[in-house]
Amino acid sequence: MRLQVGLISPGSGWEGLLQQQGIPFVVQDAALAHLSPVWIIHQDSLISQDALESFCAAGGSVLIEAAAWRCIMEKPVSTRMCTWALPQQNGLFGDLPPLDIYDTIAVPKDKTLKTLDANLSLFEQLIGPGCMTIIPWNVETLLSRYDVRRKKVWFPRAELPSERLCAVSKGLLRIVVSRLLERLFHRQNLPFVHRWFFPRDARSVFCFRLDTDFCSAADAKAMLALLQKHRLRATWFIDVADEARVKNLYATMDDQEIGLHCHGHVVFDDVERNRQNIRRGLAAMNRAGIKPQGFAAPFGEWNPALDEVLREAGFRYSGEFAVGYDDLPFFPLSGGTPSDVLQLPIHPISLGRLRRSHFSTSEMVHYFTAVVAHNAALQLPQIFYHHPHHGHLEVFDALFNDISRRNLLHMTLSQWAQWWRQRLAAKLPVEYHKNILEFSTSHPDVWMHLTTPKGSTTVPAGTYDITALSLASSQKNTRPKDLARTRKWHWRDALYDYESRKGKRYHEDLFS
Ligand SMILES: [Zn+2]
Repeated sequence: MRLQVGLISPGSGWEGLLQQQGIPFVVQDAALAHLSPVWIIHQDSLISQDALESFCAAGGSVLIEAAAWRCIMEKPVSTRMCTWALPQQNGLFGDLPPLDIYDTIAVPKDKTLKTLDANLSLFEQLIGPGCMTIIPWNVETLLSRYDVRRKKVWFPRAELPSERLCAVSKGLLRIVVSRLLERLFHRQNLPFVHRWFFPRDARSVFCFRLDTDFCSAADAKAMLALLQKHRLRATWFIDVADEARVKNLYATMDDQEIGLHCHGHVVFDDVERNRQNIRRGLAAMNRAGIKPQGFAAPFGEWNPALDEVLREAGFRYSGEFAVGYDDLPFFPLSGGTPSDVLQLPIHPISLGRLRRSHFSTSEMVHYFTAVVAHNAALQLPQIFYHHPHHGHLEVFDALFNDISRRNLLHMTLSQWAQWWRQRLAAKLPVEYHKNILEFSTSHPDVWMHLTTPKGSTTVPAGTYDITALSLASSQKNTRPKDLARTRKWHWRDALYDYESRKGKRYHEDLFS
């Protein structure tokens, strides 16, 4: 048997999510769908009620969007707006922070359903030995979003740091969906497998990003000295307005990666002005002999007009909070089709935001150490960023020491992007029969992460009796009790939004 998900009818959002998580899947119609033990059914899936019921009656399991469940199963749902939802404390997702949606959700109206998580509106319908897990979201719509909201991040103190981030917490949505699929495999006594996120069995990667707007040559040199002390190659997204500095400083940093941040520190809604701005930036870099692979947009903004220019300029990757943060890499949906510029999400709270929220130096160190532990439990890459003119190098000295104790794979962002493309391109067929799992790979560094209800492990290509594997139980984060306060409005939110609008207007006016 193939350990794969059958995606009933194509859907760019779902295909992107499954590739990102590395879950083997085929896009198929109902006629061939019996070849997959778990199905995904979304709003555009073409399938009859009979086919669905007989699949479940034969023991199959299905993850289905509530809107599709309503049409196919002819059942009532109610629709309502959901801004965010905090998963139930003692449930499957009790370790996760609030899931931000800011969209309409569909909730089944059927008292016979089993509740999986009342707060997330997750339900289950049992049909014979099989079952349907009903999710309230339209995944395609949510993964297409790039509008931003100011969000606060929890920390054990009264004043919380915040940043303007993609309204939808896509990274958490991926984790929730993946755990639901995992559950559906386990329910059939099948292991759940997906491509591991990092090379071989590395626990994670560490990348460090620098945005150099407002940064003096002295700030940059001090940062570089710290990186060299720790033997780290960072990725610098440079502001090229001062061309002499590009040539005399950034172009000489042979041991660092240099990408483009901006000429004018602004992102427009139209293609033409974005094109002008990025062409000017690239021309300045090329004159200094730098050919950047990566881009990081001013203010972390992203839109299809920017994406079009990034594609045409040949950038291999970019990083913008408006389209993703705290997540694995993915290709953003631009007008319904996936971009070919890989998005590299990072942890979006910089030291500058902590400083603005009046953190002391020791609180800053404590904050980053806590994020590293939190990311580790969620199997996220460890990617942080800084503006060198914000100083506080002692905080990064401590962070780099913590990172080196954890023995993570250190990479530049272009290496991370390159790895991710290799992982996506690898061929990795998985066969499973009576506890024997067999898979081969076209890339030796792409390993498989395998889970059963007993635990998990990461293995290279080979043949395994899964009853003989030694499995480690997963470590979950313990969630603080007062997490909901991160989503309560605070007067400082309005102040910071005002400051960011003012900053944007200032840079827009400078551009001509
Ligand atoms: Zn900037």
